[in-house]
Amino acid sequence: MAETFTGTAPGRVNLIGEHTDYNGGMVLPAALSIGLEVTLAPRTDSAVAVTSNGYDAPAIRELSDDAVGEWSDPCVGAIREANALDLLSGGATLDLHSTIPEGSGLSSSAALIVAILKAAREAAGGGPDDVELAIAARRVENYYMGVPCGIMDQMAVALATPGTAMALDTKALSYDLVALPAGFEMAVVHSGLTRKLTDGRYAARKVECDAAKRHFGTEDLCLLDEATVEAVDLDDIPKRRTMHCLTEHARVKYALAAMQACDMDSFGALMNESHASMRDLFEMSLPEIDALVESATEFGALGARLTGGGFGGCIVACLKSGQREAWLAKLLERHPDARFIDAVSAD
Ligand code: ADP
Ligand code: MG
Repeated sequence: MAETFTGTAPGRVNLIGEHTDYNGGMVLPAALSIGLEVTLAPRTDSAVAVTSNGYDAPAIRELSDDAVGEWSDPCVGAIREANALDLLSGGATLDLHSTIPEGSGLSSSAALIVAILKAAREAAGGGPDDVELAIAARRVENYYMGVPCGIMDQMAVALATPGTAMALDTKALSYDLVALPAGFEMAVVHSGLTRKLTDGRYAARKVECDAAKRHFGTEDLCLLDEATVEAVDLDDIPKRRTMHCLTEHARVKYALAAMQACDMDSFGALMNESHASMRDLFEMSLPEIDALVESATEFGALGARLTGGGFGGCIVACLKSGQREAWLAKLLERHPDARFIDAVSAD
């Protein structure tokens, strides 16, 4: 049997800072305990053969295949990128095992691509560092899959560590790993609704942001001044998208300071404000998710918000340690389609 190499990557939950990562702003993701492991065997031919615990039938593809909307697309794109980086010269046989639900805003696609690139780097006996791998993984989503995402997911799953949040400046590509405060946890609850980033609504928001970028003559909507944007003569939709970006970026900075001061009441209030902005200004929520977020705070969370690209997926709620069981029982009773996924905390 051919020699095999392994790569792993966790899922991630973004605590605050949504759609800021392609608008010059900050984000605050954290690594989950759920994750993905890939076993890779290099091949001498150009086939990409994949088995996954998530899919019954294996996929047999060719390196020359374009993305066709199949689950194995990210695998083909990642193996192509590994060839471009000189980590492989040919196809690969891949076996995937994942505990990250797909299409839920927890970055299963980035974890998959980063894990494959890390396995390919093992096969090559070295290569690009983790930041360069994250940038390469973003290229796979942007140019191979056609998903116009920013750099948050790939950086988080390539570099975040348990017990910390990654304060990532997506413009400078600099980051700090900041300890999560003791005595609290961030609970991730699935709404029961899934979406695909390839489904168009995410891309529509990107197009609206691009229109605003042209108007303001900047790539960095997050760094614009609120009063300037308020005063400008611009259509309602690009204006509201811009207001979300710049206020969300400011909220990440306040939230980071609150977290470092262990002031989780303020952190929670910022999560609630972030949700309202995603709902009203960026229009990326759904009524069922708004209801879940409202119940989460009604039942005692310090704050709660939709997390990830939007239009389905998960919420994240800030809880005091020890509060989760009773809180969850009430939440799941009222929202039977919802389910607990994971929690991150200092320990
Ligand atoms: P997410 O928010 O989870 O990243 P995406 O729509 O961006 O959602 O990515 C989901 C895609 O990632 C799936 O359609 C599939 O192509 C790939 N994927 C994720 N997990 C697995 C898995 N366990 N096995 C195979 N492919 C997977
Ligand atoms: Mg994804």
